Amino acid sequence: MLERVRAIGVVGAGGAGFPTYRKLEARAETVIVNAAECEPLLHKDKEILRHNLDPVLSAAARVARQVGAERAIVAIKEKYEDLIDRIRVHGEQYGVEVHPLGDYYPAGDEFVTVYEVTGRVIPPGGLPLDVGCLVVNVETLLNIELDHPVTHKFLTVGGDVPQPVTVRAPIGAAYGDVLRTVGVDLDAVGHVLVGGVMMGSLMRSFDEVVTRMTGALLCFPEGHSLPRRYATDARARDLIGKSACDQCSFCTELCPRYLLGHPIEPHMAMRGLEFNMVGDALVLGSQFCCECNLCSLYACPEDLFPKDACADNKRTMRVKGLEHPSRGRTDVRPHSMQEYRHVPVASLIKKLGLSGFRNVGELVDVDWRLEQVRIPLQQHVGQPAVPAVREGDRVTVDQEIGAAPEGLGVPVHASMDGVVAHVGDHVVIRRNG
Ligand code: SF4
Ligand code: SF4
Repeated sequence: MLERVRAIGVVGAGGAGFPTYRKLEARAETVIVNAAECEPLLHKDKEILRHNLDPVLSAAARVARQVGAERAIVAIKEKYEDLIDRIRVHGEQYGVEVHPLGDYYPAGDEFVTVYEVTGRVIPPGGLPLDVGCLVVNVETLLNIELDHPVTHKFLTVGGDVPQPVTVRAPIGAAYGDVLRTVGVDLDAVGHVLVGGVMMGSLMRSFDEVVTRMTGALLCFPEGHSLPRRYATDARARDLIGKSACDQCSFCTELCPRYLLGHPIEPHMAMRGLEFNMVGDALVLGSQFCCECNLCSLYACPEDLFPKDACADNKRTMRVKGLEHPSRGRTDVRPHSMQEYRHVPVASLIKKLGLSGFRNVGELVDVDWRLEQVRIPLQQHVGQPAVPAVREGDRVTVDQEIGAAPEGLGVPVHASMDGVVAHVGDHVVIRRNG
């Protein structure tokens, strides 16, 4: 199974991109299928389950056998009652259970999901495996079960578009081509957030391409406050934070990792900004930040950027090889208010100014008539794939165009027929050469 999962190029499709074959070498007691999809406007996981429930459940059972787990549990929002009923019925034959989650953010953060499903707290800086759990995304399981080279990616196109949809897009397709194909007028698009409104990033160009980690393209009109916040320059962010943070500590009080008992306090990272002019003011607990952005985009009454203060601390600590002394501690306990401080997705939608967008994304079939794809050789954690084709070669869909590297990594496959026009850090395939 591991060899096959590597050969077809399966990586964490929830956005992490960690090669799945390596993850499945572990031993675990419980496999958790992460179907929480807690960010507003995202719909791909639920759509995958609606259309491919049996393959996903079958893969969950196979993965559980592979890692020696006694239980496999689908964690999904309680509001999807239709799916929960179907998982209960179909899950019986595969030995897969279901665990309903509240409709809050970030229910899909794996530390939070593991706590909700098992009552176990992953140690600060640890992994689900530290408490006997292996967390796998829905699409990753589907890719395992299809047993076919991973050449396409499910993603939601939503936000300020005529009709939000979920599609299965060829890897290497330009964002502009994807948006045009589903009926979006590019001239009417102000900005695009790639991946999600909370943990995504601002698209720089319509020429950027879909990879195995792309989960959404969310369009915004010019002038919307959310993309403007993402576009704020780092220096301006720090200066505003330094002068305006009043240390109210709301950011900390709502931080999901703080509420799990981890020693992270984003308001302290903000306080550190006061001292950065006279030397490093690293706040070590920042290394336990999952960058969920709840502190910046929801908790802070002054619209400051505590998440970025934590992320900057984390980066510096990594470079300096510093670690918080509590890393790996197994005696952390959740805050007494943990279960009462969940942020409802409905409140998040209002706060982010998303109420005017339709929060739907039905899976639709699309006739992709692309002239070109530009497939990155690095779409995963680890080493890039090694080019296996040369300019001028004719290739067919599913063909390996990048071989698995020596170390951690997976191969890369063509997502359409055509002629190789360029080989560099991407392989460009043109339909007509
Ligand atoms: S919530 Fe905002 S103002 Fe309050 S401590 Fe955090 S960053 Fe400062
Ligand atoms: S982004 Fe903010 S709320 Fe989220 S884990 Fe980091 S510090 Fe906590």
